Amino acid sequence: MQVIQGRGVSGGTVLGPVFFFEHEKRTIDRRPSSDPDAEWARFQEAGRAVAEAYGRLASEVTEELGQDAGLLFRSHQMIALDSEFEKSVRAAVYGKRQRAEAAVEDAARLYAAVLQKTEDPYFRERTQDLYDVAERILRKLVGEQPRTADLPFPAILAADSILPGELVRLERTRLLGLLLKEGSPTSHVAVLARIMGIPAVIAPESVPRIPAEGESVLLDGSRGFIVLNPDEETRQKEVLRRSEEIEREAALRRRFSENGSGLRVPGIRVECNISSLQDLPAVLRSGADGIGLFRSEFLYLDREDFPDEETQLSVYRALIEGMEGKPVTIRTLDPSPDKFAPYFDPELRDTDDVSRGIRYSLEHPEVFRTQLRALHRAAAEGNLRILLPMVTEAAEVSAARAMSEQVLRELKEEGIPSAGAEIGVMIETPAAALDAEEIAKEADFFSCGTNDLTRFTLAKSGEDAVRDPEDAGLHPAVRALLQAAASAAHRAGIPFGVCGESASDPGLAGFFLESGVDELSVSPGAVLTVREALRSAFDARENETGD
Ligand code: PEP
Ligand code: MG
Repeated sequence: MQVIQGRGVSGGTVLGPVFFFEHEKRTIDRRPSSDPDAEWARFQEAGRAVAEAYGRLASEVTEELGQDAGLLFRSHQMIALDSEFEKSVRAAVYGKRQRAEAAVEDAARLYAAVLQKTEDPYFRERTQDLYDVAERILRKLVGEQPRTADLPFPAILAADSILPGELVRLERTRLLGLLLKEGSPTSHVAVLARIMGIPAVIAPESVPRIPAEGESVLLDGSRGFIVLNPDEETRQKEVLRRSEEIEREAALRRRFSENGSGLRVPGIRVECNISSLQDLPAVLRSGADGIGLFRSEFLYLDREDFPDEETQLSVYRALIEGMEGKPVTIRTLDPSPDKFAPYFDPELRDTDDVSRGIRYSLEHPEVFRTQLRALHRAAAEGNLRILLPMVTEAAEVSAARAMSEQVLRELKEEGIPSAGAEIGVMIETPAAALDAEEIAKEADFFSCGTNDLTRFTLAKSGEDAVRDPEDAGLHPAVRALLQAAASAAHRAGIPFGVCGESASDPGLAGFFLESGVDELSVSPGAVLTVREALRSAFDARENETGD
């Protein structure tokens, strides 16, 4: 038995045999070509076919695993259509007389080297996506079929690395866990593993050291270690631990449903963050008090043009109906470099110079107007709240409010049923937190986005700011900004909530309670644990004050 510590990137524990996965080695034809036009045409045809295939894969994956997963493959599609990538292939085909295969391989290497040199971990992580795209174009060029799932038995898959496209193709029922040599918590493979609920560990040391295929491994994706050839005692302990975990969750569930108030903390609502209608059943199962954040931009991303009023209305209505009177908070469109569709602004598609959140909406009044019309029409049917993202000053909120009032007047004149809605502000920029006093005068509620607030306060880009273990528990500067905004909200008599990833962290429940939060909006899977943590922090405080 041997224990190897690595890094857990997707939670859960599994015990099973190991199966090795290796990438096929391919020899690329590097003889010079005599017909650059033909090579260029071959590349273009293959590139187009691959981009279309990614579009289909994105739709399939969205259907099966939800919008967040589908979106990963939309970004692959964008790489396949990327004009700079095309330019480097063209330069190699015409300038160096390379065949299409060699030109693609070299262009991908060149690009990967540039990405690897960037300071931003988000872009460094995109190297794997680039290889996924290049690999598919190469396969197309040489006429190989895409590799399909070939796990011969239920197993923990061990590999140096695996591409996102390969991972989603694996037979899900046979994939018990992932043990990788390369990767990080923010790589798309790790993101996918979390969405798929597959425990995963990255352990650079372990992969070459694993003795033999088929040998047993205990993999703990939450604590980030593996045990090679676990002995009988370890196996027994694991089985016991797992059954205790299941029992604990069942007990929590019973405590919540038998005595609804048993886990509740008076005055604090626990709601859910979601990105798609497909997440609604999970919200209902979780027993949440409402939807605290619906990221509406996901409605805009998986398509060629802006969704029209009716399309949006049907989604907002379905959310309201599904939640049966509980509040549904819909955030207006929040574009950012990683949540961007080319049609948002064709000139910006290859840059990260994108107007974010409310600024984009105010700069594109027609796009905003359509969304506001759909929102106010849906509000006539239930409890809907509007949330404005990336606010930096009160004037943005008053401008949005003026548009909302204008839209309500228009709908009334047209005789279309509609209703007003509370307008809330996301506190996710340091500017908003510092100017919360003024902003609170224009807002009906605040919701703190700790993901972006952390990112912009600590000058950390990409998801690393969110998941970096060093920042677990929220940086003191972020805590101070959050508390300043919470106090400003309460002085203005409006509720204050938190909807960033930190809200799901049970370790922060005491801090949030102390800060006077009125709402925590968390992932559906975290509702019960957050309720339990809040309740214990609350009981501890009551006991202290009672002593
Ligand atoms: C946040 O920034 O914390 C937030 C909830 O918004 P996003 O969708 O950007 O994670
Ligand atoms: Mg945000």
